[in-house]
Amino acid sequence: MALDPAIEIIDNRFHRLVIHNAHIDHLWTGARWTEGPVYAPAAKHLIFSDIPNDRTLRYDEVSGEVSVFEAPAFNANGHTQDREGRIVTCEHRGRAVTRIGHDGCREVLAESFEGKRLNSPNDVVVKSDGSVWFTDPTYGIDSGYEGDAAESEQDGSYVYRIDPDGSITAVITDMVKPNGLAFSPDESILYVADTGISHVGLKCPPDIRAYPMAADGLTPQGHHTTFATCDTGVFDGFRVDHEGNVWSSAGDGVHCLAPDGTLLGKIRIPEVVANVEFGTVKRNRLYICGTTSLYAMYVKTRAAPRPG
Ligand code: MG
Repeated sequence: MALDPAIEIIDNRFHRLVIHNAHIDHLWTGARWTEGPVYAPAAKHLIFSDIPNDRTLRYDEVSGEVSVFEAPAFNANGHTQDREGRIVTCEHRGRAVTRIGHDGCREVLAESFEGKRLNSPNDVVVKSDGSVWFTDPTYGIDSGYEGDAAESEQDGSYVYRIDPDGSITAVITDMVKPNGLAFSPDESILYVADTGISHVGLKCPPDIRAYPMAADGLTPQGHHTTFATCDTGVFDGFRVDHEGNVWSSAGDGVHCLAPDGTLLGKIRIPEVVANVEFGTVKRNRLYICGTTSLYAMYVKTRAAPRPG
């Protein structure tokens, strides 16, 4: 039983999270920039984005085939599922957060804030109370590559909350380019990656920040800590397992971070990784969006269940 050479143990705690005879599956290639994976347990498939090619793709877990789910696709980026199993999408070109309703139709959840268009929603998560939290950096309007080039109408790149009644609140306004986001399993902490190094250099280190949530569960408290800083590339999208470990995309693969922020280990991928998602019905297979390709690896942990 040999550890796959792609697995790098940095802290001994990582041994407990990886399977010593599992290996990386290179499932498919042919994209320009894969992002936004979301697993739909009832359909046994993974939906993911190929942003510059303006399409979303579907990996069928049963047949192993990848097909086009939607094209054109508003240059979709991040996806998640809401409490009813509906797919929620961040659209660069649509400059909106949308949802596929039970009838299959596109429903707009947010497209403006204070009367001005959003930049280009990037990543999204749904909290147990049904509120939808998303980041809104400018990557989808900075050029025509990932959307339509346009001037920002907002004063900055913010993190927003959409309440079940449709109202939209800016909850974090002090980041440069907020990107991936997720809650801790008990939803007491909101993690948000800042990839602002793309615009201001090392004045904005490639961090994940940890924001303790206020007791009302509606707002992150202003005081945040630096949860972890990326040593290769940036943290883009990430997911949290049931023990609170953060599995994040990075420039050299996937980094696994303990709840205290310690880098436990890496799964090295030969392409830049933008996002990850736990799949299979057991939620113990980590799907990895690596630039042109979709990869996967079984791990000895599973996605955090949603608080009831
Ligand atoms: Mg992202």
